[in-house]
Amino acid sequence: MNLLLIGPPGAGKGTQSKRLEDAYGLVQLSTGDMLRAAVASGSELGRKAKAIMERGDLVPDDLIIDMIAARIDQDDCAKGFILDGFPRTVPQAEALSAMLADKGLRLDHVIELAVDDEAMVKRITGRYTCVTCGQGYHDEFQKPARDGVCDKCGGTEFTRRADDNEETVRNRLDAYHGQTAPILAYYKNQGVLKGVDGMADIDAVTAQLKGVIGQA
Ligand code: AMP
Repeated sequence: MNLLLIGPPGAGKGTQSKRLEDAYGLVQLSTGDMLRAAVASGSELGRKAKAIMERGDLVPDDLIIDMIAARIDQDDCAKGFILDGFPRTVPQAEALSAMLADKGLRLDHVIELAVDDEAMVKRITGRYTCVTCGQGYHDEFQKPARDGVCDKCGGTEFTRRADDNEETVRNRLDAYHGQTAPILAYYKNQGVLKGVDGMADIDAVTAQLKGVIGQA
């Protein structure tokens, strides 16, 4: 089963992808995570992407398409994947359709997480992650049970993303509305777009997603 989650930054795509990975045995493909790894490794792609990401602009389509095409070819994707943060433009969506058709694959569910922009600024500027296991937290909405200790792995080191500041978040939201939202019409025209209320709490959104997807 292959899934695509669509929504602005902060909508919960990453959080929900991790839960669906566990529930359905799928692999999360986050182009943002892949790019952050490329930046950290200092690769050519990382050097090209770094400043663009810091501004909250979109990395050029050709770089993204090559990166995801190589990733989808890896063995672990054969059991199914969840696309998180890709496609982000209509040319990316068209390239994905061609890529999947080529491999005899398809998207089983395309789901929009519908949210409110102002709430996203608050969600994003408060979020942080366990360095050891990647579990996500929030200053206000999702604190660990013990202050400074990860619930999942007991880690005590946490990190915040460089682009999770208010100015960059507003630019990322503009990029979403200007360049990414048109892919909703692309999938709607294909009759495959579904939606859930991304403003509900995390467990309720997971339940809605499972309702759309069906039981594992
Ligand atoms: P994300 O982790 O999905 O919020 O992505 C972080 C940043 O990586 C974005 O603000 C973009 O600069 C870049 N990025 C991630 N995915 C894409 C994509 N599909 N197309 C273009 N840029 C992307």
